[in-house]
Amino acid sequence: MTEADCLFCSIVAGENPATVIREDDRTLAFMDINPATRGHCLVIPKRHSDDLTLSDPEDIAACSIAAQELAQRAISKLGADGVALISFAKPAAGQTVFHTHLHVIPRYEGDGLKQPWIPNNVDAAEIESSAKEMSND
Ligand code: AMP
Ligand code: ZN
Repeated sequence: MTEADCLFCSIVAGENPATVIREDDRTLAFMDINPATRGHCLVIPKRHSDDLTLSDPEDIAACSIAAQELAQRAISKLGADGVALISFAKPAAGQTVFHTHLHVIPRYEGDGLKQPWIPNNVDAAEIESSAKEMSND
């Protein structure tokens, strides 16, 4: 994916419409076109990266700050009971638009959304083994 054929880059460039709700030097936030709940929006870095694993950490920091602010607005202005923040990186995780984005999903008591995973019981040894691989060297 390059900037030239990226939908979200075209939104940043003003070449495609979006309902923009927040902007700063590094980030843009706009309403999701197919919202999961009322107020569902996306925060993106203005600079292209395919997904969050490939982004400039400063861009991720800026997106996190923007997402926190939007989560606060969801509660104070929309009356949300909670907020879920999520980012899918790569198709296996469910990513469909390949420009880094963070979903800000206001949650309402009884909104019927499911958690995105099913908890599993696994051996302590398996948790320990993955922890070893995930730890700082
Ligand atoms: P993901 O599956 O995490 O890559 O999410 C992509 C999100 O982008 C989906 O929730 C879509 O509804 C949303 N989306 C796709 N095209 C647009 C668009 N033109 N404007 C706003 N949101 C969009
Ligand atoms: Zn892009």
